[in-house]
Amino acid sequence: MRVAFLGLGAIGRPMAARVAARHRLTVWNRTPARGAEFAAAHPAVVVAATPREAAAGAEAVITCLPTSKDVEGLLSGPQGLEAGLETGALLIDCTSGDGATSRRIAERLAARGIDFVDAPVSGGTNGAEAGTLTVMVGGDATVFERALPLLQAFGGRIVHMGPLGAGDAMKAVNNTLLAVNILALAEGLVALAKAGVSPRAAVDTLNTSSGRSFVSESLIPDRVLTGRWPVTFRLALLDKDVGICLDLLRELGLSGPLLNRAGELLREARNALDANADYLAPIRLAEQRAGVELRG
Ligand code: NDP
Repeated sequence: MRVAFLGLGAIGRPMAARVAARHRLTVWNRTPARGAEFAAAHPAVVVAATPREAAAGAEAVITCLPTSKDVEGLLSGPQGLEAGLETGALLIDCTSGDGATSRRIAERLAARGIDFVDAPVSGGTNGAEAGTLTVMVGGDATVFERALPLLQAFGGRIVHMGPLGAGDAMKAVNNTLLAVNILALAEGLVALAKAGVSPRAAVDTLNTSSGRSFVSESLIPDRVLTGRWPVTFRLALLDKDVGICLDLLRELGLSGPLLNRAGELLREARNALDANADYLAPIRLAEQRAGVELRG
């Protein structure tokens, strides 16, 4: 199939690499050097100069940008995505986006006979490389079926969550629970370290006890105890996801006191950290503030 992929960021790059292994791929990236670098590693891939050029002739286009508003912005203008998308094409937006903007994009494209699904992913850059991402899809069932074979290039579990925006809602709530876990573990592990428990023993014991989570089982052993602290997912993006979740709660008339408090704490950490800080950096901040180190 002729496919275009727009947005070769931290997760877009490995997703696009998996699409390139199965389809005839054209890529576009805002910073052209990233597109050229990708094509150098994948010689069959064509690099487009504009979103319009990328979409021209493609049966399906996949976008993976920071926000839905970025995707909406990409549609407009003489060199924009919409100018290149052909009637009958399919736009799959893998951005962790917001439902309201996704519905607006879908409506705009439907007027031109172009299908749309919101299809955010979870599983990190490792999951993208391995093709094991969970993909949370919102949209009509028939469009979901159409998108499925493409999503299988990088998805291990692909779920139709409901109507347009349902994938965005699922992703935003998931990531807010991730944020809660990160912040809670930072507080708990720092307290244990200060109480004289070795971080390794604390994490190992948690992981055979009822307080464990994905963060304690996978992220902390791999990134915090080792002192590796890689940057794979920017804290700013997690903060954006929590904001989408909190907006959703407000729209639904729910107070969500715990999630709102987590949002405040995450924002506070974001403001105290570097603009490109990783999403686990709040743990580092908690270490520094308490004067302990969780490496061990
Ligand atoms: P990055 O910040 O690494 O990359 C963002 C990409 O979007 C880059 O290609 C950037 O281009 C491009 N971009 C940014 N703004 C615009 C714009 N206004 N117009 C056009 N292109 C733009 O983000 P990630 O790849 O990490 O994340 C992408 C999406 O996937 C986000 O919604 C994120 O929440 C989600 N996600 C990320 C995961 C991760 O582990 N990283 C995991 C799951 C979901 P340029 O090169 O020019 O900067």
